[in-house]
This record gives sequence, C-alpha cells and structure tokens, in this order.
Amino acid sequence: MKIGIIGLQGAVSEHLEAARRAMHKLGIQGQAIWVDKPEQLEGADGVIIPGGESTTIGKLMQRTGTFERIKQLAGNGVPILGTCAGLIVLAKRGDEQVMRTGQPLLGLMDIAVVRNAFGRQRESVEVDLEIPLLGKEPFRCVFIRAPAVEEVWGDAEAIAKFRGKIVGVRQRNMIAVAFHPELTHDTRLHEHFLRMCQKG
Ligand code: GLN
Repeated sequence: MKIGIIGLQGAVSEHLEAARRAMHKLGIQGQAIWVDKPEQLEGADGVIIPGGESTTIGKLMQRTGTFERIKQLAGNGVPILGTCAGLIVLAKRGDEQVMRTGQPLLGLMDIAVVRNAFGRQRESVEVDLEIPLLGKEPFRCVFIRAPAVEEVWGDAEAIAKFRGKIVGVRQRNMIAVAFHPELTHDTRLHEHFLRMCQKG
C-alpha cells in the first residue's frame, strides 16, 4: 500500500508517523511518503492533506500540480483524508474569509466551511469526543485554530460534533476532520482510513 502525505506546508511529519504506526498496527505492508510533486502520487492508494495554513497549502498545491492530481485521484475513488486546513481545502464552499482571500478549494466535498470557527483561541483546545465511526472509546481531538463545517449536503454526513458544530464529515471515499488526529497516540482514525484504502 502506498499513502501519499501532501508535504507542502504544515503538520506533515506527524502524519507520516501516524500513518506508519497505523500500518504497523494493522499488519499492512506499505509505505507512507512525503509528496510535493504530482508524479509521487502515481499508484497512490490514499492521500492525506494535513493541517497548516489552508491558503498557503491550496496555492502551493496549484503551483506544484498536486492540486489537479488529487482531484483526478479522488474522482477515481482513491480515499482522501483532510485534517484541519486539509478539511478547508476539500470543501466546495467557504466563508467570507475564504472568498476574500480567493484561496483555492479542491471542491471535492459537499460541505461549507468556516475558518477559525472557534475564535482565534490562542493555541489549542483538547477534548475527548465520541465518534461512533471509531468505536466506543472517546477520541482525543486536538483543535488548533480549527475550522468547522456549517452545512453538509448531498451524501456528505457529519461524523463528529464539538460545541454544537460539525467537526468531522464523511462522503464516499473522503473523510475530513477539523482536529489533528496525528498529534496524539491514538491511531484509530488513520486505521479507519487505511482500511478504506485497502478496499479501494
Ligand atoms: N486556521 C487554519 C486555516 O484556516 C487551519 C488551522 C490548522 O490547520 N491547524 O487555514
């Protein structure tokens, strides 16, 4: 199995680590690789778009050509996981901050996002949330200047909520979460994603 982690800006090495740990746990032979060129996505079974600064990530994806490549892969059914800024980039619609900056959105998920939805909290908030998709045990979620999803439509469905707002969504071959699953030792979200990649 080959998982590409988009490594243009943001929390890249933590996702590499988390994906590798999750592979190990599931006994999957494979590699998680750092991607900054479209050709590195050749034959990828899954793609992760990490957190960071979504305007920068979107622009760098366009400049490197990874933007179009991810769209093609997603269209072919390859699983995509977006976390935090990655969730924003996957969205079809953004708030007025998104409009103002004209940041590029992949527009792959039927969701409308709000950037920095929990205020400009100084750094981070950690909370245990119930995410039935990941089992009974609550999942530790780290929010860092996190977005939220204010609307889902089509076959997109909410999988997690925090303070009454949607912070996790699933749609067909895609999952997007507003928090940082790569920053804790709990690899359940990565494991779930890898299982989707196995089926694909
Ligand atoms: N606030 C950032 C943005 O809007 C996302 C924060 C994150 O990825 N930790 O791009």
